[in-house]
Amino acid sequence: MIFAQVDTAQKRLDDHLPYAGEAAVADVRRLAQALLGARVLHVSSTPYGGGVAELLHTIVPLMRDAGLDAQWFVMDGAPREFFEVTKKIHNTLQGMEDDLTPGEWTLYGDVNRRLAAVFPEGPWDFVVIHDPQPLFAGAMVRGLAAAGGKAEGDRWFWRCHIDLSTPLESTWERLHPLVNQYDGAIVTSRKYAREEVAIPVAEITPSIDPTSPKNLPLDRGRARAVLLEFGVDPDRTLLVQVSRFDPWKDPFGVIDAYRIVKAQYPDVQLALVGSIALDDPEGVRLLDDLKQAAGGDADVHVLSNQDGVHAAEVAAFQQEADVVIQKSVREGFGLTITEGMWKARPVVAGQATGCRLQIEDGHSGYLIGSTEECAARAVQILSDPGLGQALGHEARETVRRRFLSTTHVAHYLSLFGKAMERGQEA
Ligand code: UDP
Repeated sequence: MIFAQVDTAQKRLDDHLPYAGEAAVADVRRLAQALLGARVLHVSSTPYGGGVAELLHTIVPLMRDAGLDAQWFVMDGAPREFFEVTKKIHNTLQGMEDDLTPGEWTLYGDVNRRLAAVFPEGPWDFVVIHDPQPLFAGAMVRGLAAAGGKAEGDRWFWRCHIDLSTPLESTWERLHPLVNQYDGAIVTSRKYAREEVAIPVAEITPSIDPTSPKNLPLDRGRARAVLLEFGVDPDRTLLVQVSRFDPWKDPFGVIDAYRIVKAQYPDVQLALVGSIALDDPEGVRLLDDLKQAAGGDADVHVLSNQDGVHAAEVAAFQQEADVVIQKSVREGFGLTITEGMWKARPVVAGQATGCRLQIEDGHSGYLIGSTEECAARAVQILSDPGLGQALGHEARETVRRRFLSTTHVAHYLSLFGKAMERGQEA
């Protein structure tokens, strides 16, 4: 097992000017002045699949363009059972009641010990460990460095992308002492900060990259051709949910909502577009179950990266959707919501905190608490094209103001800058 460096594409802050505006880009450059050459290490579990990887592919190269020496490493060669365990940790942190067995904790500890032994060689000025998978390894390396007097200038952060509002006690009890080994924690919303966390907690909301193929406008003809390629009729009404195949995203609820809509709009189609992440064995099982649930309805399309749905195809589905659905029960943030909003689509999303962080109900989308409500909002949008347009317009402006990559990088730089000042005072 090793840590492998992820080779990210080059990105330039200047390319963000047309979307984020001059002030936002200037802000990043100003904050970077005090941090030029700083060595920043991001550690996460996987280079592709899911929101964290999506974010780091932009944040890391933009930090580099701003003048920092930012690098990103992922674990390579961890056994499949480890990811079963970390998925369970993820699920229980979001509130699922399914205690980990002593054997599962042992596996988590063993893999992390081996990871700690091959941790990317420093010195680093700032280390950001993402999510629970490498949390323990980071805590160990941080602890060892501190004990050996080698952690003088560096600052270690645990970046939690998960909705921590209702964790299962038995999981959280094990993890919070590890979190407290760090210098700081970063959460997506203050609402996720828990009192057991004794270190400073910063709030940083995620973002989307307006220059990525996922978020650039697609030529209409090309987008329609993508739909056709996957058996979807571009001239008929389309509901879309893009998500990993994960129970928290409630894909079965989306099918139920679609069936209610279908009773009023017989020509409606549904596309459930999802990727299977390397660290997500549960997703494979769910994909099969969903295909079963679609049960021979030719207007329900369950598509994944295994069918050839990648970034450009995801973009086409989002862009051409009449309604984007994100029926999440729990959602740390929900980049798929941000992506739909940026494409000026009306988004109907669950009441999860991550959805509420982005959508102002009735203004920039709709928040729903049940399958019936989800269907009712979709019907309302389908029966009033002006409404969909108005919601979509507000949605795009919200993303421009708050959720583009430049703002995200600025938040990190500001956090690093403050940590450095504190270090110099100490
Ligand atoms: N995604 C994708 N293909 C898919 C499903 C998802 O590229 O088939 C992307 C999606 O566009 C988004 C990210 O994966 O950028 C998912 O992030 P989100 O925060 O919505 O959910 P997470 O997977 O992190 O829970």
